[in-house]
Amino acid sequence: MIASVLPTYNRAPLAFVSGEGSWLTTDDGRRFLDLGAGIAVNALGHANPELVATLTEQAGQLWHVSNLYEIPGQKKLADALVGLTFADTVFFTNSGTEAAELAIKMARKYHYEKGDAERSHILTFQGSFHGRSTGAIAASGGDKMIKGFGPLMPGFTQLPWGDLAALKDAIGPDTAAVMLEPILGEGGIKVWPDADLKEIRALCDANGALLIFDEVQCGMGRSGRLFAHEWAGVNPDIMMVAKGIGGGFPLGAVLATENAASGMVAGTHGSTYGGNPLACAVGLKVTEIVSDPAFLAEVGRKAGLFRQKLEGLVAAHPTVFEGVQGQGLMLGLKCKIAPVDVVKAGYAAEVLTVPAAENVLRLLPALNIEDADLAEAVARLDRAATALEAHAG
Ligand SMILES: *Cc1c(COP(=O)(O)O)cnc(C)c1O
Repeated sequence: MIASVLPTYNRAPLAFVSGEGSWLTTDDGRRFLDLGAGIAVNALGHANPELVATLTEQAGQLWHVSNLYEIPGQKKLADALVGLTFADTVFFTNSGTEAAELAIKMARKYHYEKGDAERSHILTFQGSFHGRSTGAIAASGGDKMIKGFGPLMPGFTQLPWGDLAALKDAIGPDTAAVMLEPILGEGGIKVWPDADLKEIRALCDANGALLIFDEVQCGMGRSGRLFAHEWAGVNPDIMMVAKGIGGGFPLGAVLATENAASGMVAGTHGSTYGGNPLACAVGLKVTEIVSDPAFLAEVGRKAGLFRQKLEGLVAAHPTVFEGVQGQGLMLGLKCKIAPVDVVKAGYAAEVLTVPAAENVLRLLPALNIEDADLAEAVARLDRAATALEAHAG
C-alpha cells in the first residue's frame, strides 16, 4: 500500500523536533550538528531569536491579503533588494522553482516585445538544477529529473559545464538567454571562474541575449558576498533567489533590470501567495542581517577557518576524501567513496551533511555558525571518516 505521504523522497530515519542555532534535537533526544541548514535555507540557524520575534510580531498582525492590494512590507523588501543589487525591480515567489519559471518567461517576453519572437531559446549547463516544474526540469536537463515527464517544454540546450567554446558555438540569433548558477549547487559545488563569467557576459551582450543567474543556493551571503556574482564583478540581467532569503520561511524572488523586465506589464504574471506580508517581514529581517558588511566579513572569516580545518581532515583521511572545493560557506568535500556513505556515517557521528553530484559532499552550515561548532563539526566528520576506514579495512 502506498505511504500516506507520496513516496518521492529517500528519507533518513531521523525526526527532528526542535532546533537552536546550528543544532537539531531528535524525538529521542539526540543532538545533531547541522551542516546542511535545510539545504542552505536556514541561513541564520534554527529558531533564530530575531527571526522568531519578527515572525511572531507579523503573525499577530497580518499573514496574507493577496496581491489584489498594496503590501507595504513587500515594497520594503523590494526596495532593500534593489538598493543592494544590480536590480531595478523584484517579483516575489514562494520557491526557487517558481523563480526559475518567471526568469524563463521574462526572458522570452523581453524578446517578444522587442519584436523578436523567434528568439526563445535558453542555453543552460549540464549538472545544473533550476527546480522541479516542467519548465525548470526542461532547463536543467538531467535524466533523473526528466525521464518519463515528456514531452518537455522545448527551447533549452544544456552545454557541458565550463565549456565556453561550446557556448560560443551555440549562442546566436535564436538565443533568448544564458542561464547558470555562479556556484553549482546540487551539481557538485563548482565555482565558475571570474574570467569565464566576464566572458559569458560579453558573449551575451555581443549576441543580444540576456544573462540569468540562478543564485537560489549560492546567494544571500552564502559565498561571503551578498550574491556570488559580486566576486566576479559581473551583473546578470535577471537573477533568481530563494532558499536563504526566507531563513526557513518559504520565499523566493526574481530580481531584474528595468530593461530585462520591460515585457512584464500588469496581467502578465502573478502569484496568490508570493510576497505575502508574513514572508516579506521575515525576508526583510534576513536581508538586513545578511547584507551587513560586518556580517559578510564574518562569513568570510568563518569560511577560512572551516576550510583550513577541512583541508586537515582531507589530509588525515586520504582514502575517504580527495579535496575541498567551493566558496564561502558553500563548500564541497570531494569524496573517494560514495558521498551518501559519508552522509550515513555522519548520522552515526551526529553531524548532518548533504550529498551532491560528482562524488561531492555538501557542507552548507548556517552563516552564523559558532567557531566552536565548526571545530566540533570537523571532529565529528573525522569520527565518521575513521569509522568508514575501519569498515573498509
Ligand atoms: C533548490 C534550488 C532551486 C529550486 O528551489 P525550490 O525552492 O526547491 O523550488 C533552483 N535552483 C537552485 C540553484 C537550487 O539550489
